[in-house]
Parts: sequence; C-alpha cells; structure tokens
Amino acid sequence: MQSDHRIQRIAVIGGGTAGWIAASALARKVGRTCSIHLVESPDIPTIGVGEATIPGIIDFLKFLGVDQSDFIEHVQGTIKLGIRFNDWHHIGHRYWHPFGPFGVFIDRAPFYHVWHKARAQGLDVDLSHFNLEIAMAEQNKFIYPDNKLGIAQTLRYALHFDAGLVAKYLRAYSEHLGVVRLERNVSGVTQRADGMIDEVVFKEGDRLQADLFIDCTGFRGLLIEGTLKTGYVDWTPLIPNNRAVAIQVEGQLPRRPFTTATARPAGWQWRIPLQHRIGTGYVYSSEHATDEEAVQDLLGQLGDAKPITDPRFIKYVTGRRRLFWHKNVVALGLASGFIEPLESTSIHLVCSGMYALLDHFPDKQFDPANIEHYNRTVIDEYEKVRDFIILHYCTTERDDTEYWRRCRQIELPEDLRERIDLYKRTGRIFQRRHEVFVELSWFFVMHGMGLAPQSYDPLVDGSNWEEVKKVMAAMRRNIASQVDAAPTHDSFFPDKPRQSAPAPGWMRRSAT
Ligand SMILES: Cc1cc2nc3c(=O)[nH]c(=O)nc-3n(C[C@H](O)[C@H](O)[C@H](O)COP(=O)(O)OP(=O)(O)OC[C@H]3O[C@@H](n4cnc5c(N)ncnc54)[C@H](O)[C@@H]3O)c2cc1C
Repeated sequence: MQSDHRIQRIAVIGGGTAGWIAASALARKVGRTCSIHLVESPDIPTIGVGEATIPGIIDFLKFLGVDQSDFIEHVQGTIKLGIRFNDWHHIGHRYWHPFGPFGVFIDRAPFYHVWHKARAQGLDVDLSHFNLEIAMAEQNKFIYPDNKLGIAQTLRYALHFDAGLVAKYLRAYSEHLGVVRLERNVSGVTQRADGMIDEVVFKEGDRLQADLFIDCTGFRGLLIEGTLKTGYVDWTPLIPNNRAVAIQVEGQLPRRPFTTATARPAGWQWRIPLQHRIGTGYVYSSEHATDEEAVQDLLGQLGDAKPITDPRFIKYVTGRRRLFWHKNVVALGLASGFIEPLESTSIHLVCSGMYALLDHFPDKQFDPANIEHYNRTVIDEYEKVRDFIILHYCTTERDDTEYWRRCRQIELPEDLRERIDLYKRTGRIFQRRHEVFVELSWFFVMHGMGLAPQSYDPLVDGSNWEEVKKVMAAMRRNIASQVDAAPTHDSFFPDKPRQSAPAPGWMRRSAT
C-alpha cells in the first residue's frame, strides 16, 4: 500500500489579522481533513492597525460564508467607496480613486477614451458624473447594491474596520470550525534532516508538531526568516517611507464612506472613519522627518478631533521576502513583506496569498515545482502593487520639501515606466496578469496625478458623436438620480455605537 502523503496537521503561528484570516480560510476549506492549531503570544501584541480594505474583502467574507451585516456590526465597520487623495499633485489639489465602473463601454472602447475626447472638446464632464462611487462619496451617501429600490446595483465598496475586533471575530469563527488556539511564546524550532520545520518549541515547556507551518508572526518573520533565513528584498529606494505613527481619535459625524490620504511634508496621513472612532496616522520617511516632527504634524492635523490613544510608532522596511513559501513554511501578512497602506493592500494580499496557497495546496512531499509556481504568482502580485504605489509618488509636481523632490527622482521599474509612457502617448492602459488593480484604478490615479494623453484614442471618432453625447447625458442623469435616492452612509449605523456587540450572528444560528 502506498503511504499517505496528505497534509494532516497545520500550525498557524501568529494571531494578528493575518493569522486569523489564514486560520479561518483553512478551517473553511481543509478543516475536515486537517487539524489546525493557531499559536499566539500572550506577550507580543499585534500591530493593531490595518483598518481599510479593498472590495476583495467582501468576496473573502462570502468565501467564509460570513453574513456581511453581522460582520460589520461586530467590527464597528463602515463603508469605503474609495480613497480621496489630498495635496498629492500639488498643495490644494484633490482627486479620487474610487472602486466601481466609469461610464460604460461604447463601441468596445473603455469609457475613459470617450471621456478624453469630451474633455478635449471642452464639455462639462466631471468624473463624478460617470462614477457612482465618487458621486455617492461626495455626498456621504451609500446603499447596498442588493437594495429593494433597485438602484446602485453596480456599486462597488470595501470596508473600514477595527483590526482588533476583526481578529476576535475570525477567532470565534475559526474556533467554531475546530481550530485550536494556543496561547504560547515560540522560543525555538526543531528541523528535520531536510531542513523542513518539524516542531515549534514553546517557552512554556511544551511543543507543537505540524506538516505545514503558516508564519504570521508579523515583521519578525519568526520561521521564514528567523529559522529559514529566506532573505528580504528591500524596496526602500523605490518607496522611501519607513516609519508610521498611529493614533485613534474620537468619532465624528458624518462618518465619511471613504478613506482620506493627505500628502504631508515627509509622507502622508491616513484617516479612516469607523463607527465608534477614527483611525489616523502618518506614514513618513525617517530621513526627512524625526519621530517628534511626525507626531507634531499628525496632532496638528487632527482639528477638533480628540485623541483617545497615545501615539504608537512603527518601524518597517518596505519590501518582500525573497520567497513567500520556503520548505514547509508559507509566510503571510507582515511576515511576508510590507508595502505601505496607501492603497490598503496588505489585508488583501493576505487573502490572495491564502487563496494561492489553497490553489497550490501541497502534500507532505512538498513538490518544488508547486512551491516555485506559488512564489512566482505571489511575487508578481506584490510587484504590481509596488508599482501602483510608486505611481502616486513619481508623478507629483510638489517640490516644496526635500522629501517630495526626492519622490520626483525615483528610478522607475521598467514595467511602470512603460505603462506611464504608453498612457501619455496613447491614453491606453492594459491590465497585467495577477494584478490587484484593474485598468480603471490605473486610469483614476494617472489622471488624478495629472498625467494626460497627447490625444484621445482615434477609434473614438468611429462612433456617432451626437449619439455618444446623448448616452453621456443619460448616464449623468442616471447617476444623479441614484445618489438622490440613496440614504446617508450614517443611516446604516447607530447614532451612538455600542461599545460591545453581542455574539456573532452565525454563532447564534445553528452550525452548518
Ligand atoms: C502603519 C500601518 C498601517 C496599515 N494600514 C493598513 C490598512 O489600512 N489596510 C491594510 O490592508 N493593511 C494595513 N496595514 C497592514 C496590516 O496591519 C497587516 O497586514 C495586518 O495587520 C496583518 O498583521 P500580521 O497579522 O501579519 O502581524 P501582527 O499583527 O504583528 O501579528 C503578529 C502575531 O504574531 C504573534 N507572535 C509574534 N512572535 C511570536 C512568538 N515568538 N510566539 C508566538 N506568537 C508570536 C503575535 O503575538 C501576534 O499575534 C498597515 C500596516 C501598518 C504598519
């Protein structure tokens, strides 16, 4: 009889957002065939930030079978229709990167080509006339696309949430599906002759053996780096920020259904409205601001919002592990690398890394071809995200500080340079494989950062322009009427948010 090579024991090390996303996805997919343990240290806190997402989070909740409203209620969640960027191109300038479609295809042409022609003709064509998410966000409106009014059916949104409550929610979900949580400090590791990790050893005296280890230990990368010395690719020359200071402030009404990213003298500041409070922070370069300067700048921007926590400083190095999967260790979350949260991609990369792992789920022989393909897929995805982030910096016209002058000098990766050149010459954008951000995201940021094609696409002239103008007018009316009909974003939440919500709804229902 052939021996059974199937994976039977999985250990997730780390109980931050990454660890609990990994545990819940594994419980959902392989929980019936594998035992799953999650180890988290009672002494090492989670990073505690990570509060804005992109629409993939909604798909992830569907994958888990979690009720979205229940989740939102328990994580003090709000809606995110996109990001509003302030002062990036120059001080006083503002643009949107919304989720969701822009107009409609006309004679096979993406609408932005038609829009370039309309602008060239001096027509009154604001982006918000043709993108429902911007139009809703500007008026603090929202409605779920499955509403009974039958409006806003294409609306795309993501969530803002409290990271600590998300970990708590996913923990309850995972434990309900049989994941065993151990509160222990990993103090050592034993390896087999082939270098694979055999056991993690706990300071408390016991140990845990597994076939597959998921390293979610945060920046330290306890297994992937601490034990396996996988190596790190440093992208600081491409994205100069290496520090953040985060602070929570009292909530304010209205709660805006979008994230704000405001450029500052040595970086940028985020503002993420939750139901019960606002998360804010400054991502900056230590070469261009001291910690003291950064925190003073952040506090100076709070307006009348009162801090409810002390400032928390975080150091990091932008980049990625040389390998995301090495031997029998797969790194997820901060253990796998970090690209700053300007486009809220980290949690998404945890989910997509998890999907990729399920697509490449190994057996105990750990086929190198399978691992190599996983690594190539995930590296590709990380590099595309990196390039998209650089786009926000390299196109600035700011020269008011040394920091911004430095951003204008970034030596661009070849792929990004080609993409920018092609857009400037032809207005064309082509989406690559394994790309988180679709063509329209590139359009919104390129346009937002002041890049303009030399001319509009000549194929647009093949359409009957008078008809096209009628279609544009109809789209504009349609969007305006949908926004009028939608309720306010705040109307979805209690005026005074509860401090602790009852047990998750799926726990109240009987288990499936
Ligand atoms: C400033 C900043 C802002 C961010 N904003 C966003 C955002 O808006 N959107 C987004 O998607 N992402 C954001 N991120 C990223 C996001 O915070 C992380 O991707 C996410 O929180 C996952 O973190 P983690 O679970 O990998 O690590 P951590 O939260 O650091 O968790 C590490 C876990 O490992 C455990 N551990 C460590 N060592 C040991 C040990 N020896 N023994 C046992 N357990 C151990 C710890 O106890 C902890 O449970 C941001 C990151 C930063 C730095």
